[in-house]
Amino acid sequence: MKAAILHQAPGDLAIEDVDLDSPGPEEVLIRVVASGLCHSDLHVMEGKIPWPLPSTLGHEAAAVVEAVGSHISEFKPGDHVVSCLSQFCGACMECSASRTWLCQNRRGLGQSDRPRPRMTLRGKPINPFAGLGAFAERMLVHRNAIATVPKELPLDRAALLGCAVVTGVGSVINGARVTPGSSVAVIGCGGIGLNLVQGAVLAGAERIIAIDLQKKKLDLARIFGATDVIDASSGDSVKAVQEMTKGGVDYAFEAIGLAKTAEQAFMMIRPGRTAYLVGVPPMGASIQLPGTAMLMLGKGLQGLFMGSSRFKRDIPMLASLYLRGKLKLDELIAERITLAQVNEGYAKMRTGEQARSVILFQS
Ligand SMILES: [Zn+2]
Ligand SMILES: [Zn+2]
Repeated sequence: MKAAILHQAPGDLAIEDVDLDSPGPEEVLIRVVASGLCHSDLHVMEGKIPWPLPSTLGHEAAAVVEAVGSHISEFKPGDHVVSCLSQFCGACMECSASRTWLCQNRRGLGQSDRPRPRMTLRGKPINPFAGLGAFAERMLVHRNAIATVPKELPLDRAALLGCAVVTGVGSVINGARVTPGSSVAVIGCGGIGLNLVQGAVLAGAERIIAIDLQKKKLDLARIFGATDVIDASSGDSVKAVQEMTKGGVDYAFEAIGLAKTAEQAFMMIRPGRTAYLVGVPPMGASIQLPGTAMLMLGKGLQGLFMGSSRFKRDIPMLASLYLRGKLKLDELIAERITLAQVNEGYAKMRTGEQARSVILFQS
């Protein structure tokens, strides 16, 4: 079967013929139908997030179950599923406290005790990114790396639920717990940012201010429910937010992963509020905040990983919201591409002009 492999970073992906093992007792073999291009994979390709290579990248997949391990009753062949980065063991201290997105045993989950690697290329092991590796025709994953979605949901749109949507909407609903009538600022209107905007709509926020450098993304943000937009290329966006809201917003979200915009999010909030880091910063990046303002104004900055979501609960809930017309997914997809076009898709992402590209696999 075909998979896009990263051999060295920085570098591009190479389409290779790889072999996949059969499912272990706790594993599920899935046939990938659609796979979204997310910024985190680009970070790995650029060497900004270290990951053992060679690796199959991709983590935002929608797939059909082909075979299940001997211990699994939750899934059966033919089920439609979505993969999620925040796979979990179910037994560590964080999982026991229902904070599965903070699982302490995520890395190498179910792989370290395997007799053979899940994926090989000419006999050599491949490390699927985050235990997933969604830029491949099939995936072999731990049962706690996927959630079921209804069959009425088209799989190209379902794929986005696993990362962009669960992260954006989850951060607003589960993480920050945005309250009705509040004001929200979102910095960066890509896949995650647009979902922060629609999460704020679902939470009943009264004012939703979207900030980006690209006019096209600001137009999209309006479609997703932003009440105001700020073109960050035309001046000081912190000042603009403070003026628009007479002193700052109740909630600010950073969805790019840059120190500068994280600092801006902190500056945009009113006293006593918290700004949230949702975008993934490059490994080793530091954020500098004014300590006096933090203390005297009682402000905070908090990271929210994967929307603080219990994804097996939240992904079906998001699917249901879409099917009831309360969640936008169609508008997130800028284009559908083939696996062979994956590098071109990432080249477009680097220009920052569009929301999501989704790879569609031939069955
Ligand atoms: Zn992602
Ligand atoms: Zn755990």
